[in-house]
Amino acid sequence: MIQYSEFLDIFDKQLELYQSEYENYIFCKKGCSACCEKGDYPLSQIELEYLMLGYSKLDNSIKKVLQNNFSMIKKGGVCPFLINKECSVYKYRPIVCRVHGLAYLNSQGKVVVPYCVNEGKNYFQVYKDNEFFINPIRQNLSTQFVLKDFNFGEIRDLYDWLVV
Ligand code: SF4
Repeated sequence: MIQYSEFLDIFDKQLELYQSEYENYIFCKKGCSACCEKGDYPLSQIELEYLMLGYSKLDNSIKKVLQNNFSMIKKGGVCPFLINKECSVYKYRPIVCRVHGLAYLNSQGKVVVPYCVNEGKNYFQVYKDNEFFINPIRQNLSTQFVLKDFNFGEIRDLYDWLVV
């Protein structure tokens, strides 16, 4: 697990470089939690274990709020780890959350754009009718690819991990 957290430190630094390279097109800011309010949040076994490590370190009062959220989780709905528009396990969040908001090339050579592009947010100036008018990040930021050097286990939606 230490190896995985060290990898995340390096990965986060790479993402910071991308954020500054594309800063003119990125409108993510504290207080915007749109990416955490609607989605499937797919994550692998290794990411789930790391996420739950973050959960185990929280105060009991926060755990209680989260347990209540877990009991009300809906497929495709708000992430149960979101409290007052902030991620309660930010340091431990999965890859899909770390790359929220970025546009990148996938293994089929297609540009993956953040859904908020259609809400006048990230990259809206350079995207129209499924066409992307600048070079996207050339690194495949899908979870499978990012974690290719790890034995990351099965990938499931957060709902499917939490609802047994
Ligand atoms: S784990 Fe955190 S960053 Fe990821 S969707 Fe949930 S609240 Fe958002």
